[in-house]
Amino acid sequence: MAEQTESQTATIAYTLHGNRYLNITSRCTLRCAFCPKFNGSWEVQQYELRLYDEPSADEIVAAAGSPSGYREIVFCGLGEPTRRLDVMLEVAGRLRNKGASIRVNTDGLANLIHGRDVTPEFAVLVDAVSISMNAHNEPTYNRHCRPRHPQAFSAMLEFSQLVQQHVPEVVMTAIDGLPGVDITACQGIADEIGVGFRRRVLDVVG
Ligand code: SF4
Repeated sequence: MAEQTESQTATIAYTLHGNRYLNITSRCTLRCAFCPKFNGSWEVQQYELRLYDEPSADEIVAAAGSPSGYREIVFCGLGEPTRRLDVMLEVAGRLRNKGASIRVNTDGLANLIHGRDVTPEFAVLVDAVSISMNAHNEPTYNRHCRPRHPQAFSAMLEFSQLVQQHVPEVVMTAIDGLPGVDITACQGIADEIGVGFRRRVLDVVG
């Protein structure tokens, strides 16, 4: 892995829309065709999010700063935060003790990756989870998200079902305008699972 140079300052935390976002890994489970990092850019808004070294829990807490000035602390970068589940939950707990409201933006594949139901571990530490559904059926999901795991779509739906038992606010999202994605059908799936739904716009973090 290449070393980070001085001109490549790592962005561990960044501020948008009154929220503080935490970028804790560059690793992903998916390889989404619409993702900036698979289209030659690691930038979101003006922030360069590529991490050459993964920050420690202490470094993330320090980068987050005081939560009091933000509506939410959101785990969201150009990597999947649940790939670092233990670090993510430790940081969530430490910031929550300082009064933060914690949201995790996730691909919903944590149970698949970790080989167990991790959703009970979210209880008390996480206030909200936003899950990228991305498509209304498996073929369309596979086309856009290019998962290595063949069961990814069903695992994401199951995670969404399970996590709502432990986290007060669960929302599934899909990006309006991705070819072949039926936003109304996505909304219907979220309704069936019993969670909220939010239509997203491509390239807008949040
Ligand atoms: S899960 Fe997010 S960060 Fe990872 S490849 Fe897909 S869009 Fe990019």
